[in-house]
Amino acid sequence: KNQPDVFQTSDALSVLHSVFGLPGFRGAQEDIVRHVTDGGNCLVLMPTGGGKSLCYQLPSLLRPGCGIVVSPLIALMRDQVAGLLEAGVKAAVLNSTLSWDEANEVERQLLAGELDLLYVAPERLVTPRCLAMLGRARIALFAIDEAHCVAQWGHDFRPEYIGLSVIAERFPNIPRIALTATADDLTRQEIVQRLGLDDAPNFVASFDRPNIKYEIVDKTNAQKQLQAFISDRHSGEAGVVYCLSRAKVEDTAAALNKAGILALPYHAGLDARLRETNQDRFINEDGVVIVATVAFGMGIDKPDVRFVCHLDLPKSIEAYYQETGRAGRDGKPSNAWMAYGLSDIVQQRRMIDESTGSETFKGVSIRKLDALVGLAETVDCRRTRLLGYFGEEATGTRCGNCDNCLTPPKVWNGSVAAQKLLSCAYRTGQKFGAMHLVDVLIGRLTDKVKQFGHDKLSVFGIGGELTEKQWRAVMRQLVARGFLYADADSFNALKLTEEARGVLKGEIELMFREETGGTGRAPRSKSR
Ligand code: ADP
Ligand code: ZN
Repeated sequence: KNQPDVFQTSDALSVLHSVFGLPGFRGAQEDIVRHVTDGGNCLVLMPTGGGKSLCYQLPSLLRPGCGIVVSPLIALMRDQVAGLLEAGVKAAVLNSTLSWDEANEVERQLLAGELDLLYVAPERLVTPRCLAMLGRARIALFAIDEAHCVAQWGHDFRPEYIGLSVIAERFPNIPRIALTATADDLTRQEIVQRLGLDDAPNFVASFDRPNIKYEIVDKTNAQKQLQAFISDRHSGEAGVVYCLSRAKVEDTAAALNKAGILALPYHAGLDARLRETNQDRFINEDGVVIVATVAFGMGIDKPDVRFVCHLDLPKSIEAYYQETGRAGRDGKPSNAWMAYGLSDIVQQRRMIDESTGSETFKGVSIRKLDALVGLAETVDCRRTRLLGYFGEEATGTRCGNCDNCLTPPKVWNGSVAAQKLLSCAYRTGQKFGAMHLVDVLIGRLTDKVKQFGHDKLSVFGIGGELTEKQWRAVMRQLVARGFLYADADSFNALKLTEEARGVLKGEIELMFREETGGTGRAPRSKSR
């Protein structure tokens, strides 16, 4: 601990062996450790399970003074400190769970130079008292974990992170290392700006999780599809099922239990004790499925999660990546499975429209949603698309471990079908939702059709060549590509966008993916 702060590979390796019990560095770890130990700032982008902790823990041991780690999650801090203490590292934590006496003792240890690593909650660090204390201590580095929480446009913004810009202002000469597992370009820029990392290098590890198989299926009966997916392919295995609302979490958990699958609910509306019990059971028992809102998962380090399912569309590719990333941290084959349909796009759009955010915020949110919808609709490799979103060039064009690679979807020329559907929406006055439009296209004499005289229209019954399911898929793809939109102000009536004109005039050719059975089995629909 008394060596000068110049990186010696041999020192680093010996600490790596003796303290962490690891045979060697992984990926960019060595470069990062060297850079930080030599006093440099940096931003580290590494997927979950990539080994970020070592990037600041090791330099904290190699440099004089104590490493200060900012982390948003009390449970995560506790676990890390426990692990470090076991390895003989002098680590402590400062957060709201400590009593006054305990906190005083930690502060005394820090000032006496008795600590190697100190984990501090962000809201605590920014207090004048804590900053003054840090000013009197010898500090090896500042590590800002989960740095994307600083980004206001990110999916996981935490207001208490904003204040962390004070670190660069107050301690400009102490190295700062920001780490995150999710950062698209915009988020990255915000981290750099807020944490004062303009001239700092970015270390970007590959975000690929090769053991995760990606599958996105057409949503028909989500709960039935989910049950089939779990019983057919993951019977008795641990998994996470994400739903958007608390009610749907409860419903889905109940339905799974009824189908003989052990499932526990988890959402912010549950009693705190029950939530904790369910989480503990998921972590400690075998084969528990947790059905949860996005409130669940951050900081949960269960290595053998075999599948992550989405019954609702997340908000962005970052959110999808982070949530699916909780599968397969042990490196064994795992599934990321999502059921997705027209109502998902409509619902997410409405949530954006009805949010109180600024126009800019809404614009960004819509672009992020569109990118995810693009991933859901693509007929090409999902992994290539996913990694491309994070700016990563894929090595091949086909990964061989996603649904589109394993069972290439059939594509058909849907230009005429699209024209029929758009005409139908137009001729019925752009006042009706998906169900009614399908009735008119197929030529069903429902009460509503008769009531509005839609059986007299030229578009009545012009769509007999496709099934209801196929029409819904066409509709979804037209919404996904921005030719149709569901107007929340008039009961989700489907209306034409300006771009629809090109389709109606036959200037735009549309290739659609043909939907398959939806449970991940072989396609059932006949080819065209
Ligand atoms: P992250 O914070 O990026 O999600 P962690 O730092 O928790 O990842 O590390 C994930 C796992 O990888 C841990 O079990 C850790 O012990 C292991 N690990 C980290 N670095 C190495 C390495 N160089 N060699 C082998 N295992 C490593
Ligand atoms: Zn693929």
